[in-house]
Amino acid sequence: MLGDKKSGVTGIKTKNTQSGEHKTLPMNGLFVAIGHQPNTDLFKGQLEMDPVGYIKIQPGTTKTSVPGVFASGDAADPVYRQAVTAAGTGCMAAIDAERWLASHAVH
Ligand SMILES: Cc1cc2nc3c(=O)[nH]c(=O)nc-3n(C[C@H](O)[C@H](O)[C@H](O)COP(=O)(O)OP(=O)(O)OC[C@H]3O[C@@H](n4cnc5c(N)ncnc54)[C@H](O)[C@@H]3O)c2cc1C
Repeated sequence: MLGDKKSGVTGIKTKNTQSGEHKTLPMNGLFVAIGHQPNTDLFKGQLEMDPVGYIKIQPGTTKTSVPGVFASGDAADPVYRQAVTAAGTGCMAAIDAERWLASHAVH
């Protein structure tokens, strides 16, 4: 990245990983994309996941492969991955969990 504290970003230096060619691109803004690997390693072997690592849920719910365990947000969403959809499915998971606890007489 090129620039300084006063002028901000002024450009970037890139390297083509196949040809090795270096380039300098002038720009005044930068958005770093870090990929879409969900942070779900903690649940590997415990919850069903797709090959990328997204937790599988029953469509239209937040139910995972384990009864009483619910997933929401980016961890279970390979399609939208947005703040508002994460908040919405978070609300769904809270309701699903509350209903599961009530139906299993857990207080
Ligand atoms: C650069 C960037 C720009 C984005 N721009 C937009 C945008 O403009 N509009 C939009 O709608 N969405 C945007 N998004 C997507 C949005 O940020 C996500 O969809 C949303 O934050 C997902 O919410 P989440 O609660 O599922 O996960 P997160 O917000 O990632 O929250 C997960 C939380 O769990 C914590 N955590 C992880 N592991 C553990 C653990 N083992 N124990 C305890 N806590 C743990 C993390 O620290 C984190 O606080 C952007 C995302 C990125 C990366």
